This record gives sequence, structure tokens and C-alpha cells, in this order.
Amino acid sequence: MAEKRDYYEVLGVAKNANADEIKKAYRKAAIKYHPDKNPGDKEAEEKFKEAAEAYDVLSNEEKRARYDQFGHAGMSGSAGAGGFGGGFGGFSMEDIFSQFGDIFGGHFGGGFGSSRGGGRSVNRGSDIRVRIKLTLAEIANGATKKIKVNKYIACDKCGGNGAKDSSSFSTCSTCGGSGYVVTVQNTFFGRMQSQSVCPHCHGEGKVITAKCDKCQGEGYVRGSEVIEIKVPAGVGEGMALTVEGKGNAARHGGISGDLIVVIEEEHNPELMRDGNNLIHNLNITVATAILGGEVEVPTIEGKAKIKIAPGTHAGKVLRLRGKGLPDVNGYGKGDIMVVVDITIPTSLTSEEKELVKKLSEKPHFKEAESVENQNIFERMKNFFR
Ligand SMILES: [Zn+2]
Ligand SMILES: [Zn+2]
Repeated sequence: MAEKRDYYEVLGVAKNANADEIKKAYRKAAIKYHPDKNPGDKEAEEKFKEAAEAYDVLSNEEKRARYDQFGHAGMSGSAGAGGFGGGFGGFSMEDIFSQFGDIFGGHFGGGFGSSRGGGRSVNRGSDIRVRIKLTLAEIANGATKKIKVNKYIACDKCGGNGAKDSSSFSTCSTCGGSGYVVTVQNTFFGRMQSQSVCPHCHGEGKVITAKCDKCQGEGYVRGSEVIEIKVPAGVGEGMALTVEGKGNAARHGGISGDLIVVIEEEHNPELMRDGNNLIHNLNITVATAILGGEVEVPTIEGKAKIKIAPGTHAGKVLRLRGKGLPDVNGYGKGDIMVVVDITIPTSLTSEEKELVKKLSEKPHFKEAESVENQNIFERMKNFFR
């Protein structure tokens, strides 16, 4: 190691600087020569270590006193008292971070290792939302839909990197190729350092010197793609399916966004959805209500015949088990619930009126009984709860 510089000089502080001034000075130097900011720069690394060494001594009262009295000679050798033994040269970057990491503020100190290992942030394309309309049958059975989506696709000329050819790149001068920069902010808690994506290269670490003429250097162009969407059975209105990587292509070959498919149910006037059940309002005649009979009701696939028992009153619910929709999570199937209503004719001929009048005098038509479950509203409420 070359002749050591004066520690006060290294940090650029006065001999009588207080602890706070020393700390601030070190932080400034550490940020300036931070390896994340100066990747591969040996000189910066040395300066970074030098600053750490100076700080280690000057921030410790005992060491500082010894240094003030004996200079560097007082720090070397087996001086003990937490001395550096063979000198600071053996002090690794990791040591500096574990020892002084807190000085960088939470993000920087702790983030050093992870920011190296985790790689730089990359461009990501935006998500695209599309809506698809499904019939009840499609919802019941699941469906495969092919839709054409207009979106940004990777430029086929440059392969998405936006450059004219493989030599049309240079290292970003703003971040030195690391893809991120360190910013210092004054906050309520003091000065905080944080890393952020380089505004010049957007985290790529390199810039294009000659752009691809097809995409003007963006790496993507307007286009479209036919995308197959597999819709599972049992989906419902407003549910969203995510098809990963099928959104807009990203700048310079980054990660494509997602395609978000929002489900819309086609309105079915005959079968109203209630969860996995389907409700059908069935109107029967007075005669069928009294005498019973067979009627047709709609189902998902077509029609089904059901029996109406004699004496069926309005509000009765007939259940067609398992004829509803499958549960989207696979928990069985819902039912079709047929809610009976009786059509009361409103405009009668005089003959019909006469017949009804006659009928009303017969014993079983004489008075309204309080039939069990006659309160339709209560029944409905309990049923649909
Ligand atoms: Zn291109
Ligand atoms: Zn940059």
C-alpha cells in the first residue's frame, strides 16, 4: 500500500471536527465512491476503503486520540484495542458494509448484497385489459377463446433491443453501467440515501448509439397477437384471469406485461345467476296449479320437463339438482331453482266470469285458507339466503 493519507484529509474535515461532521463527511465519501455507483472502478474502491478506514479511526474516541498523538504509526502493528493488525488493506467490502452499513440509511446498507445478487431493475411492459363475454353454456363447461389483441409487440428487426446492430451500444455515463444511481434526500430523520433506477438509461446500464430504424430504438412496435384464453368452468361476472406475459412488450426487450381478461356474462333472460345456482321464474296456469301437470323449463343446455304437483301454490320453489353451474374451485355444482308463479287471468269473457263465479261457490273454493308457507316473502328470503 502506498503512503497513507491523513485521515482528516481523506474525509475532508478539520482536525477539530466533531463526531457529527465526521459521520457526514464519511457518508458523503462513501456514497461518492460506492461500488454500486462505480462498478469495476478499482480507484473508487480504494477510495471507498480509505474513507472507511479513516472513519473507523476518527469515529472512535480512543483510536482518534491515539491517531492524533502518533499518527499512522499509532494505528499499525499489534496496537490492540481493535486495531487493524495488518492494516486496512485486508478489510473487505463486506466488512465495511457490515460494520458501517447503517450509515447509508436502511436501504443502501442492507441493500448492497441484494442489489448485486438481484440484478438491476428491468423494463416491464404495461398490462392490457380485455373483456370477454361468455354465455351460460360457456361458463358451465369452460371455454377456449381466441381473441386478437392490439398491442406493442417486440420489434422483429432488432429482436427487441432497439439497436441498429450488436455494436450500437455504449455504457451509460450517468450510472456507469450499474443501472441505478444514489440519491440523497433531506428528510425529517436526517439525510437519507437511496438508490433509484438511473433516469438516463432506465436501469439498463447501457445506451443505444445507433437506433433500429423500424422501432426508432424502442424495441417494440404496434402490432397485434391472437391469444388463446382458456376460461375455466364456473367463472363469474367481473372475475379476472391473468395471462402472464401476453400484455404489451417492454422497451428494449424487457419483461412483457400481462393480459388481464375480465369476464362478462351474457345476460340470459330465463336463467338468472345466483352464485352457482340459476333461478328461473316459472309461470303456470291456475288450472295447472290446481290440477298439477307437466311443464317445460329452460336449462343451460336446452329444456327439461318437470312435474307440477296438484295444489302447487305461488312461490313454491322446485329444485333441479346439479343443473346449475359448476363451482369455479371445483366444489360441486349448483342447482336450477324454479320459482313458481301462477298467472291470474285479468281480462275474462262474461262466460268465463260466470264459470269462476260458480266455482267460487263450491266448498273447496269458498274461503282462503291460511296455507302453511303461504308467506311468499318469508319463503323467498329463507331460500336465497
Ligand atoms: Zn427495432
Ligand atoms: Zn444509466
